[in-house]
Amino acid sequence: MGTERGMAGTQAGRASAALQRVLRQLPMGASERQAIEAGEIDAVIDYRSANVIVFPAARRALRERARRADAADLRATLEAPEQNRLLAALPRAEHRRLLSALEPVTLAAGDVLHEAGAPIRHVYFPVDCVVCLLTEVDGPQTVATGLVGREGMVGMPLAMGVGASVARAVVQIAGTALRMSAARFSTEFQRGLPLQQLLYRHAQVELNLARQTAACIASHRFEQRLACWLLMIGDRAASQEMLLTQGHLAADLNVRRVSVTSACVALRSLGLIGYSRGRLSILDRKGLESVACHCYRPIDPADAARRPGGMAQQAQAHAPGRARAGATQVHRAPLGKDD
Ligand SMILES: [Zn+2]
Repeated sequence: MGTERGMAGTQAGRASAALQRVLRQLPMGASERQAIEAGEIDAVIDYRSANVIVFPAARRALRERARRADAADLRATLEAPEQNRLLAALPRAEHRRLLSALEPVTLAAGDVLHEAGAPIRHVYFPVDCVVCLLTEVDGPQTVATGLVGREGMVGMPLAMGVGASVARAVVQIAGTALRMSAARFSTEFQRGLPLQQLLYRHAQVELNLARQTAACIASHRFEQRLACWLLMIGDRAASQEMLLTQGHLAADLNVRRVSVTSACVALRSLGLIGYSRGRLSILDRKGLESVACHCYRPIDPADAARRPGGMAQQAQAHAPGRARAGATQVHRAPLGKDD
């Protein structure tokens, strides 16, 4: 430490000497020099070079102001009502401790958060974005085996003590997430029983979804799968209007793009969805549910909001099948052949 301090002091001394040399070359009067020496001036402009010289004290003040603004932004993101539900379910003390380890990031559709087989460097808690987990089936071909939104976390293998995932995590719906480094996550995970309980429960939800997806692909027609997939994305997105290209949907569901196009046209003709210029809207949720296969299960808000420790409703929340009471039956037009 002593050596580091010494080096830092030497660097600061060199910077100060350089600053004094520059200042001596600037045209200024005695009163201006006195004001600078008294610390009354924050910055000077060198008109010859068009440079602005900000003095160290002012630089420190600006950095501190920026740091406070960043901290305020992070607090606002963490405390926003639409924040990640998994984090929101943590006890207050644990929630606050994690705050210092999280940074908000803006994610664009198509961003790869981790590749299959590559080390996971960060975990992500989506706030209003949706991330798709894609499993390779044949070279570059993939199929979606998971979907994570504000109810969960991307990077679950780390919670299981595994540093890489078999799936590629790709942003499906652009938005904001809270990110934590893998190293810090491992520390926090070992430290906090409530976080462990929540993530083990979420791991079970992810596993159930992957199993159901495998059964769905093997058993159900494409238009049913598409309706199911759109509902699941809608549940995890902050809005029912989503920027979602047919190309991404085709990659998720491992079908030709033309199949997605014809199914979307059919769903739109039934008034269930709107689709224009890559912007997809769910217009009639109940109607879309009646077209979807029984693999679709809404996220149980009570599950996400439940504090760690109470597991009584878990079996019911994730039991196979779903209650379809209240689903509006709509006339089903032929939606094209299975893919
Ligand atoms: Zn299905």
